[in-house]
Amino acid sequence: MTFQPNSPEARDVAYHIHSYTDARSHQEDGPLIIERGDGAYVIDSSGNRYLEGMAGLWSVGVGFNEPRLAAAAAKQMEKLPFYHTFGGRSHGPAIDLAEKLIRLAPVPMSKVFFTNSGSEANDSVLKLLWYRSNAMGKPQRKKIISRLRGYHGVTIASASMTGLPINHTSFDLPIANVLHTGCPHHYRDAHDGESEEDFATRLATELEEMIEAEGPETVMAFIAEPVMGAGGIVVPPETYWAKIQAVLRKYDILLVADEVICGFGRTGQMFGSQTFDMQPDVMVMSKQITSSYFPFSAFMINDKVFEPLADESNRIGVLGHGFTGAGHPTGAAIALENLKIIEERDLVANAAEVGAYLREHLNSFRDHPLVGEVRGVGLLAAMELVLDKQEKTAAEKPGQLGKYAADRLFAHGVISRPMVDALAFCPPMIVNRADIDGLIGALRKSLDETAKAFD
Ligand code: PLP
Repeated sequence: MTFQPNSPEARDVAYHIHSYTDARSHQEDGPLIIERGDGAYVIDSSGNRYLEGMAGLWSVGVGFNEPRLAAAAAKQMEKLPFYHTFGGRSHGPAIDLAEKLIRLAPVPMSKVFFTNSGSEANDSVLKLLWYRSNAMGKPQRKKIISRLRGYHGVTIASASMTGLPINHTSFDLPIANVLHTGCPHHYRDAHDGESEEDFATRLATELEEMIEAEGPETVMAFIAEPVMGAGGIVVPPETYWAKIQAVLRKYDILLVADEVICGFGRTGQMFGSQTFDMQPDVMVMSKQITSSYFPFSAFMINDKVFEPLADESNRIGVLGHGFTGAGHPTGAAIALENLKIIEERDLVANAAEVGAYLREHLNSFRDHPLVGEVRGVGLLAAMELVLDKQEKTAAEKPGQLGKYAADRLFAHGVISRPMVDALAFCPPMIVNRADIDGLIGALRKSLDETAKAFD
């Protein structure tokens, strides 16, 4: 494509390298430039309006133009635009938010550590758990188990915990001490005729076998999203979390719940850990904590994790970890206002109610020739597209079918995300039934056009 000289498109191609984009193709394709937000919708530079069916990157819970968040940011910027939390310094918004998060926690938690992104939070968790193992006189206890297709970010440690080839290939990852166990996707990974319960039993057995093979004294923690997000919106099979947690308890292995997508209402309860009856020792949060109006993340740890850390930092003289912008007063002020809005407007209940409506309508496509599986929980859903329902196979090139359908959906005014050949839906938590009706109408057209193209 040729771009107008000096146009935003031409300048983007000239100066900007994009995350998760084919850098060479981008020179030809150019950017999609989003100019404004309006509730659950965004408007591009040509004036086209889209339902943001992914809430940005699974994150804009309260919608794209919430004036209360802008006002909270402005007020805090005028009063104290920045202060740090090193060396025991603190400020009101960080204190209020730490207390609020501990009070919201579904299991007893002790302290909050602030960071700036989901990746940075997970990276910090791994590093501090290593520190804790050393503090406890167990330097051999350094391994963390995550899952194939899990997503935990892109820093060296968090990308290692991520279980997707695209985050490892050519990056020389994963690093040592990071292991991956099976993905709990019943539709794709269960054996023929295996029930959800039997599949969950097998996954728990495989986890136990991995722990035994590695040496239980070397395994420190297990990290997982309550529902896998970027790996395909994989809702765990019946009994999965009960069985996995029984294995972790047996070997005294810590559970880290990566709530970066699930947290703050996405699964129809405040945290995914509640929806799946998980008892984590560490909970990682980001995205919907500020509705992504500000880069912000945090993790909570329980006393069992905190006490050895405190002793070790006392022995050394300082906890030698922390980020300049962490717990930023403006970010914390936005988070507090955002959480207030989520509570006042009962957006968690809305996610449960409208999410059920969305999934009911997605399920009505089950007989469509392209639809292999519909899955989801709360306001998170995926539709897996196939060309052969029996064999569960799509086009020869993985992702081609999903991308085509997502492109058609985009042409009809809905932003979704193709995850290989599954379409993901994670709209802002403020959506109503009319918004979903629009999405479903666009999806119907998109599926029919896709079926025709792949006939
Ligand atoms: N953890 C989960 C579950 C995520 O979905 C993501 C991002 O999508 C991350 C961690 C990484 O967050 P960030 O992109 O803010 O580094």
